Amino acid sequence: MASEKNQFGLKRQIPAKVKREVRQRSKFGCVVCRNAIYQYEHILPEFKDAKEHSADRIALLCPTCHTNVTKGRIPKEVVQRKYEQIQREERTAPPRDTEYFVNHYQNLQVKIGASRFIEHQSIINIDGADVLSYRKDKFTGRYLVTGIFFDQKGSKLFEIIDNEWIGSTDIWDVEQEGRRLVIKSGLRNVVFDAIKNEENSTLKINRLNMHVPPFHIIVNQERLIVRQSAIDYSKAIDVEIEGDFTHGDCAIYLDSSQTKKPEQGQLQIVGGKGVWLDGTGIWFGFGNISALIYKVALWNHGCDVRSVSKVKKSIVPLADQNYFVIGELETRIRKYPKWNEELYFLNGQQLDSKPYSWGVIDSDEHNHTELFHISRQESADLALNEGFIGFYADDVIEQEWSDKVFEVEVKTEDEFGNTFAQRVKVSNINGREVIRRTNPQTQKLFHPQEFAGTCPWRKNRD
Ligand SMILES: [Zn+2]
Repeated sequence: MASEKNQFGLKRQIPAKVKREVRQRSKFGCVVCRNAIYQYEHILPEFKDAKEHSADRIALLCPTCHTNVTKGRIPKEVVQRKYEQIQREERTAPPRDTEYFVNHYQNLQVKIGASRFIEHQSIINIDGADVLSYRKDKFTGRYLVTGIFFDQKGSKLFEIIDNEWIGSTDIWDVEQEGRRLVIKSGLRNVVFDAIKNEENSTLKINRLNMHVPPFHIIVNQERLIVRQSAIDYSKAIDVEIEGDFTHGDCAIYLDSSQTKKPEQGQLQIVGGKGVWLDGTGIWFGFGNISALIYKVALWNHGCDVRSVSKVKKSIVPLADQNYFVIGELETRIRKYPKWNEELYFLNGQQLDSKPYSWGVIDSDEHNHTELFHISRQESADLALNEGFIGFYADDVIEQEWSDKVFEVEVKTEDEFGNTFAQRVKVSNINGREVIRRTNPQTQKLFHPQEFAGTCPWRKNRD
């Protein structure tokens, strides 16, 4: 499209400088109806007969008026007259949604369904692209809307980029009535319906129907649901949320690289990261500073529920306990649209934060094993990690998982060169050699009930 030329060799694309002048002379809205979502339209002559892109002959028109002009319902002469009139006027009606998405005085609240997102820069971001967002124009201080709308198959229908409508207007209808903006495809299909409050401080999205496989965002009055579907739509998981989120990067963040086959994974609520359902790629309130969650509902349409081990609950450490895991730590960088995040995997299992290393246990060209002290905030299923060696605690060890816990004796050397076996707490293990990991009396693995603490081994000397 951009390289398309007319009979005089004029490219369709209008230079940025001319566009800016047209915006200013149109006073940032459709010259016919003052809608602030607009396109650039050659008036007289039409583009096909134009020899240049002149700001005298190009005006802003909203998609609806544009269609009316194309179909001859509004004569070009009227557009030209209105354009000239607006330029002459000292006081022109402001474009109806100049500040549509934001107010100037305080934190903008976007209400989606029953959830409130306060000061989230991006409203919806899918795979790193903002599909619904707003930003402040450096030069004019006006807020500019970006929205990308898709059909049922996830093909892009049209976009609004910084208030400029891009794509066909034939089947679309944009209505603005006072503080309300409605975008329809066809007569009845409302794809977007939002209204600002009187103080201009809250934007309430009442209807949204956005389909970007494998995701589908559905907003209907007080409900916000995001669905992840199988490719053939045979299965789906819906996540419905109600909550208040403050100062985040993104209200609804969808990442298709994080999706597995639809199954009901674990729901995660982590400060600074938001709320998400493992395996679905669906996040709410990403990067928020605070969140108050009233309701999270999961709707399972024919999916498996990922099995949750029954021992899980019994291995939550008490307040004075700590996890220890040996193994190899891998740090992966995950790129988000506006930030990067370090992810930590210990023996393949993801941790919420970087574990503290007590030192290297074993290192050669094939192995690099360290002893890690894991934050108590980590998910309790760490005890299912293959390198899990136990808690540092004096008691409270339950039978269910004791067979996963190793207990060892280590060889210690005193200042005279005498060596002796000693049971040590994990904090004392550094630099000592493990000599035994089973109890010689019982021939069973050492058990933390017998000794406080657990520890790793340098070499298997049993
Ligand atoms: Zn218009």
